[in-house]
Amino acid sequence: MPKPRQIKIADTAGFCFGVKRAVNLANGAPEKFPGSQISTLGPIIHNPQVVNQLAEIGVKPVELSHAPEPGVVIIRSHGITKKLLYELKQRPDLTLVDATCPFVRRAQEIVAEMSAAGYQVIIIGEPDHPEVAGLISYGDPQNTQVITSRNDIPATLFNSRRPSRIALLAQTTQSQQLYNEIATALLTIKGELRCFNTICTATSGRQSEALKLAQECDCMLIIGGRNSANTNRLYELSKEKQPDTYHIETVEDMNNEWFSGKRTIGISAGASTPQWLIDEVVKKLGNSEP
Ligand code: SF4
Repeated sequence: MPKPRQIKIADTAGFCFGVKRAVNLANGAPEKFPGSQISTLGPIIHNPQVVNQLAEIGVKPVELSHAPEPGVVIIRSHGITKKLLYELKQRPDLTLVDATCPFVRRAQEIVAEMSAAGYQVIIIGEPDHPEVAGLISYGDPQNTQVITSRNDIPATLFNSRRPSRIALLAQTTQSQQLYNEIATALLTIKGELRCFNTICTATSGRQSEALKLAQECDCMLIIGGRNSANTNRLYELSKEKQPDTYHIETVEDMNNEWFSGKRTIGISAGASTPQWLIDEVVKKLGNSEP
């Protein structure tokens, strides 16, 4: 008798705390604000299936660059810029539901506090990411900057005779390795360095568990939106360890040939992948022959 197929699902697969909170707030909005027009500033999360489900109950995304129609406006977990938040608060025809993740909010506060105290604020992150646009907006434009690698640290900091005062933090989804590398380089600069590790453990935990599963399994499935940066990162990391790694958005993307002869199949999913999408994939795998 051939052994049954084993399916290993990462404990960390699926919604993180901040995404769960934002989606719950969006799902509850039609009941809480009956009769109001309800919109999210940009897609609430990077998952088209969830965004479509919300649209069906009347919660629709609007472009960040457009002034929202009167009604209820939900701020997503990435947060928004200080200026946009101020402008929205000035509008009496809007009710704001702030779903900014508390971890992102804390990072925004650190930028504001350090900048006000005269520190040069260095943020490790993707310059075009909405979370980073929000973070940088809380600092003084003259002394707040975003860097993506050690090479972006201004050379003047290393050469300066005057002691520097630097505050270092990161976009919540950055890699810990990169943060450590940049913090170590900054330690050689004359002056004061304050390090704030604002990287969210939801991201690092998901990545290390996917890597472990990729080493244990014959095949890996990573479930999540193609526009989800953290899902794509999970896929890349898993693929490095297990070449038979596939990125799918839904059960429809699965190809039975991938699993032919595979005994152990690992599953992980991005922080914006809902549980029902994971369940559908598990169910289909369970029904197919090893
Ligand atoms: S990854 Fe972390 S910081 Fe980002 S929304 Fe999820 S819990 Fe919040």
